[in-house]
Amino acid sequence: MDIKSPKLAGVCIVWKRDKDDIKVLIIKRGDNLTFLPGHHAFPGGSVEDEDKKCMVCGFCNEKIKSALVGAIRETFEETGYLPIQISENICKNELIEIWEKLHKKEIFFNEIQKRFNIELIVDKYFFSGPWITPPGLPQRFETYFFFIEWKQEFHEINIRKDNEVDLIEWDTPKNLLYRWHKKEISLSTPVAFILEQIEGFSIPGAFNYLKKIPWENNAYSYFHPRAGIHVFPLPAPAQTFFINVNSVVVGKEEMVIIDPGLGEEESIRKMIYWLEHFIKVGAKIIGVFITHEHLDHAKGSTLIAEYFDIPIYASFETAKKKIIPVDKIIKKDEKFVLGDMMFPWIINTIPTPGHVKGHLCYYEETTQTLIAGDMISSEGPVVIDPDDGGSMSEYMDSLENLNRLKIDLLIPGHGVPWFFMPGNIIIEKLIKHRKQREKKIYENIKKGITTFDELLKISYDDVPKERLILARQQLKAHLIDLKNKGILMANTYNLILSS
Ligand SMILES: [Zn+2]
Repeated sequence: MDIKSPKLAGVCIVWKRDKDDIKVLIIKRGDNLTFLPGHHAFPGGSVEDEDKKCMVCGFCNEKIKSALVGAIRETFEETGYLPIQISENICKNELIEIWEKLHKKEIFFNEIQKRFNIELIVDKYFFSGPWITPPGLPQRFETYFFFIEWKQEFHEINIRKDNEVDLIEWDTPKNLLYRWHKKEISLSTPVAFILEQIEGFSIPGAFNYLKKIPWENNAYSYFHPRAGIHVFPLPAPAQTFFINVNSVVVGKEEMVIIDPGLGEEESIRKMIYWLEHFIKVGAKIIGVFITHEHLDHAKGSTLIAEYFDIPIYASFETAKKKIIPVDKIIKKDEKFVLGDMMFPWIINTIPTPGHVKGHLCYYEETTQTLIAGDMISSEGPVVIDPDDGGSMSEYMDSLENLNRLKIDLLIPGHGVPWFFMPGNIIIEKLIKHRKQREKKIYENIKKGITTFDELLKISYDDVPKERLILARQQLKAHLIDLKNKGILMANTYNLILSS
């Protein structure tokens, strides 16, 4: 994976009291931006070298001081709101002139600071973070978020719009989260998370909570891609080719945990940390759902179920295998409705045999999110092992079934979710890939190749050598499927398998 190192950035959470409400200053990012296009966000951006020349007092490291300058400067540039105290009188026209020059990079913030005797004290701005963009994305930021209360004596100007910002508005966290859930707006993980904390705890409470998060451990280990959808990439067992297993928590007032992972110390610590946080914000954890019995996904269920005293749900076939002690059997096509009347999250259970018998995918219909378990991985193909109940024809049918759903967000069992690509495109690619593989295998057999190892080598010549061991079972699954479909004669099949 190409891992770009994150750029330092600062963001201002400018807030004000409006009667009984708290409102925050929010922008809509331009649709043509490469990073989070069209998203609603707090104003802010990358720290420039010149920002580091500003004088900032306070007890914290230089990084945070520079991030504060970047946050204030970017907020002014993007919105015309300058969230700092200026000791000298300044007229609007003067400020407009400064804004123009700053925009054109004819002056820098350190010069403005000198000219107007601006005192920057970091302790006046509550900060949280850093939030670090997960690896694998084309642009990455290490971002500090500063809470700043908007005061009467601050200055604001009307600025001309550019391509970076489409809209500047004040809104309540509650309304922004409502619009997010209605899919009217897009929010990034930190913005959604911070808005939820402000809604849940108000400003001082949110700040106190954010301050306590052990960022070192949790930075880029949590995604909040849609309202009510929380993704925790947990470590995968060392002996597999996967880096992580995705555990997904769905809901708000009522929550379920889907696939809590392997259950080793780190996974459990992380899951319990976040679940306890959700409980503090008012959630009730009502169950553990598993996609299938494989231990990398499901072993942690017993510990989580015991800790929170909640039942484990799975399909009948999964329960029958008795690898994981299942408390409640999910009936065919059973739906689970979570939450209150305003925000119900509706989980559909989709039988998806193929990887193993009894595998279930979960589809949350209000956000159109598919939690795919071991049907789909973004870290290479999932294994179809006929010796473990795997079947290629069932797998292909399951993929076709899933593709009938409208999937806005696909969360694979392993690897980074596809945040910015409709899930149906991924599934269509996967179906095409598997069909091409089958065709390649069959054509090699037609060419007269009848030994298993030779067939494996030339049919999977695009697969790295170390992964060929997994491809053995895939090949076997394809051969069984070809035989069952009547394409491959039984004697040829037997000849290859016994070679
Ligand atoms: Zn599995």
